[in-house]
Amino acid sequence: LDNTTDIPDEVRARHEELCRELDDHSYRYYLGNPIISDAEYDTLMGELRGIEDRYPVLATQDSPTQKVGAPISVDFAEVEHLVRMESLGNAFDTGELNAWGERSAAEVPVGAYLCELKIDGLAVDLVYEKGRLVRAATRGDGRVGEDITLNVRTIGVVPERLREDVRPAPELLEVRGEVFLPVEDFEALNKRITETGEHAPFANPRNAAAGSLRQKDPRVTATRPLSMIVHGVGAYVPAGGGKDVAFTSQSQAYALLGEWGLPLSDRYKVVGTMEEVREYVAYYAAHRHEPAYEIDGIVVKVDDFALQRRLGSTSRAPRWAIAYKYPPEEVTTRLVDIKVGV
Ligand code: NAD
Repeated sequence: LDNTTDIPDEVRARHEELCRELDDHSYRYYLGNPIISDAEYDTLMGELRGIEDRYPVLATQDSPTQKVGAPISVDFAEVEHLVRMESLGNAFDTGELNAWGERSAAEVPVGAYLCELKIDGLAVDLVYEKGRLVRAATRGDGRVGEDITLNVRTIGVVPERLREDVRPAPELLEVRGEVFLPVEDFEALNKRITETGEHAPFANPRNAAAGSLRQKDPRVTATRPLSMIVHGVGAYVPAGGGKDVAFTSQSQAYALLGEWGLPLSDRYKVVGTMEEVREYVAYYAAHRHEPAYEIDGIVVKVDDFALQRRLGSTSRAPRWAIAYKYPPEEVTTRLVDIKVGV
């Protein structure tokens, strides 16, 4: 395959530079220590996509456009996820959102969309065996993450055992969600660590959550008021050797996860049309600070699991979901100018 020879040297060089830079920024970001804003990152990624659209041969498996997350660090043990953890495709305006709606509806008969907030936190995977929390891990590269079980056990809303008063716990349940610091807690934490001189202040709640969750000493994590909201299911083996209830849709799965005592958002909404999806997007664009935590957009999911399976995934993201990203609130703030905590 040597059609790479048609690519001008300067394009090839810029492509290599962008890949290197984006990999580096990803790594810093997952450690909770970014040096550029998310908007700047997204602009570099847009430039890389532009080059790869013109020269598709450059879109190899190891390009940042094709893969999830960042390499894992040596500080934690490796954990292989039971089901791969994905990223999300992005829409930056209504046109891109509509295009996603049209693509999905052209392939399958979508009856319902689930709209929810895109929480600006860190993706975490939880595994429950016979109702007991046995493992928690970061997303890592989507296939292998870092074992952060001891740290996640300090998060109050994460149940150690699933509730069984409504129905028995499944044999096996893998759920994914977002770990975050509510804005008020973030401000109080920054005040406290500045006063005690324990730490430099964190630039934003996401960095504070990432830094707090990736502590080597879980006693430090325990002093950080982290929270979690669950928004996906990985592996699932029902109680009774598979004879018990099966998951049929995202919203039905949420109802069951709620019965088992897992922390869910009370702001998601199931709607029937893309028109209603746009209304949900517009509502939170105007009420972005109404939730107690920071959001960077809206996630829209085709609700029905059978349709999700039919739509499938690319190498990095499901085709059955899309993240509508809100414009950044402080484009000009360079994080490097702020004293960023680790
Ligand atoms: P993403 O943040 O665009 O979307 C995927 C993630 O959204 C999922 O992994 C999931 O954890 C999370 N999410 C939050 N709420 C969700 C919900 N309700 N349902 C499903 N998922 C939900 O993609 P990404 O691959 O995690 O990261 C890429 C983005 O991270 C970039 O677009 C950029 O904004 C930011 N980033 C910034 C830097 C930087 O240096 N500033 C570096 C790397 C990445």
